Amino acid sequence: MIDSGELLDWYAHAQRDLPWRRPGVSAWQILVSEFMLQQTPVARVEPIWLAWVARWPTPSATAAASAADVLRAWGKLGYPRRAKRLHECATVIATEHGDVVPEDVDTLLALPGVGTYTARAVACFAYQRRVPVVDTNVRRVVARAVHGREDAAPPSARDLDDVAALLPDDVRAPAFSVALMELGATVCTARAPRCGVCPLSRCAWRSRGFPAGTGPPRRTQRYAGTDRQVRGRLLDVLRGNAFPVTRAELDLAWTTDTAQRDRALDSLLVDGLVEQTADGRFALCGEG
Ligand code: SF4
Repeated sequence: MIDSGELLDWYAHAQRDLPWRRPGVSAWQILVSEFMLQQTPVARVEPIWLAWVARWPTPSATAAASAADVLRAWGKLGYPRRAKRLHECATVIATEHGDVVPEDVDTLLALPGVGTYTARAVACFAYQRRVPVVDTNVRRVVARAVHGREDAAPPSARDLDDVAALLPDDVRAPAFSVALMELGATVCTARAPRCGVCPLSRCAWRSRGFPAGTGPPRRTQRYAGTDRQVRGRLLDVLRGNAFPVTRAELDLAWTTDTAQRDRALDSLLVDGLVEQTADGRFALCGEG
């Protein structure tokens, strides 16, 4: 088990000062942060989130923006389908939920772009619900501290039960959840856990002498030369133009592999992030 007192005492002084954790941040703004933090590090999210919530503080303000402006504001956060889904999510909340982010997990799960993790994160962090919140960091801490393994098993429905069993049975549960995530993000990291400063006096993996994991070796995610990079380059051209551009202008964004460029453009069209005008030019969604 994980001692909630130890974890919460540590969190009280060691937590990072992240803008979406400050008093006065709305449920919508927390939801925006969770969309952005999926697959993107805090340092890159922070400036974009600050500008975003200053410009579009509510779901209705976001919904009133054009899809293209939302994609522009998303900037270099990557995985731009998230921006489109966030815009759709804002529209549903504005039109069907009175501009108020729902509180319960099942209603949250029905929103565009909101999955198991995000629904529980919003219910917990915005509304202080006692629900398990399980991300990669939490799964890793539980695998090590509770199960004595270096790495978490592949994600499964059991993860939620595992973490639910650890939650304090009182009002401290939401703080416990965020503290567990923080521990995984800053101390019990994937590659170099800092056990010397870990607040947990009991850790099964440490007690067993840190047995090596049996899973496949960790892969370093490559970006240079991937289709993701090409998609980003193509979107950069369109973000920088208020009017549709020709195929020739777009082609200049990636000249090393034309087949890859075609594939990337096709995928942007399929995802609805880019559209083609009647005369064959290309634009961000909604600007064609
Ligand atoms: S003692 Fe080390 S491995 Fe165990 S939870 Fe703390 S940081 Fe992670």
